[in-house]
Amino acid sequence: MALDPSTLAVSLGRGDRGPGSPMDVPPVLSSTFVAGGQYVYGRDGNPTWEPFEEVVGALEGGAAVAFASGLAAISAVIESLPAGAVVVLPAGAYTGTRRLVADLATRGRVTGRLVDLTDTAATLAAVEGAALLWLESPSNPLLEIADVPALAEGAKERGALVAMDNTFSTPLLQRPLDLGVQVVVHSATKLLSGHSDVVMGVAVARDEALVQSLRSRRSLHGGIPGPVETFLALRGLRTLPIRLERAQATAADLARRLAGHAKVEKVRYPGFATVVSFDVEGGAASADAVCAAVRLIVPATSLGGVETMVERRGKVAGEEHLPPGLIRMSVGLEHADDLWADLEQALGR
Ligand SMILES: *Cc1c(COP(=O)(O)O)cnc(C)c1O
Repeated sequence: MALDPSTLAVSLGRGDRGPGSPMDVPPVLSSTFVAGGQYVYGRDGNPTWEPFEEVVGALEGGAAVAFASGLAAISAVIESLPAGAVVVLPAGAYTGTRRLVADLATRGRVTGRLVDLTDTAATLAAVEGAALLWLESPSNPLLEIADVPALAEGAKERGALVAMDNTFSTPLLQRPLDLGVQVVVHSATKLLSGHSDVVMGVAVARDEALVQSLRSRRSLHGGIPGPVETFLALRGLRTLPIRLERAQATAADLARRLAGHAKVEKVRYPGFATVVSFDVEGGAASADAVCAAVRLIVPATSLGGVETMVERRGKVAGEEHLPPGLIRMSVGLEHADDLWADLEQALGR
């Protein structure tokens, strides 16, 4: 019988279970290894990576390759494309992904085509002649939903590789490889590690050649995760299922309460996951005032930590197209009533 993801998150990646062996594989702080064994040099492999990769791989249903950051994992996918390749990506993709493709395009490395991912037909028309379709659903921070199976199938028919950023959902809510996607990436900085103390990324694929290519990119470009970061990310990953369950319940509760608040014009919540975006009356000035007035909630960029965070995304460079009064809230593990009391007092200012 297949084990439940919550069991896999706890039980895999333990290494040797012989008498006297440590419960957790310790971080191996070594840049090189005595010749003749499995490990040679620290940029090519470190024994701390595998336990983390084993757990993420089992949850996503593929082979995982850990990276120094989410963007290092995204870069590895894009760097696997030939020179001049066309990349189709959502106009609502994570800012860093859009900026990376735009930067590469200025030097002719790739050509970016921005699409509205909620329009399946238009997206597939743009995939004609493209090497890669990049998916992100729900999107950050508008939380729009794409028809992933239809897009993956259509892109495959047109000969494009299909990649998906699954940071917002985690493999517990959505397994892109089961939906026809070929490579999944995560900012492990967010929900996977979950404690706002690590910057890390991971890519997962089933195709052996693709997995080998990702490992090569990691060694050649050097975007490797540190052993201590990897240890911490796995430590956080053990509790992902229970953190997600709690944060999701609180997010749904707050989304409902926000929808009934007089100062809130619009609530964006797809009904799952842990980010709620909401537009306040009065635009940028009002949203900035709310973010400055919260006491318990932390005004900070990033998401997926145990702490609830808010940010007016329109103030971020490259995000000026967003509604000015939009606040992105990443819901953490504080009690819903305490969070609501803080939001009410901040909205009441
Ligand atoms: C944060 C984030 C990234 C980038 O990850 P880093 O770990 O910061 O490099 C990519 N995609 C999404 C959806 C993110 O939220």
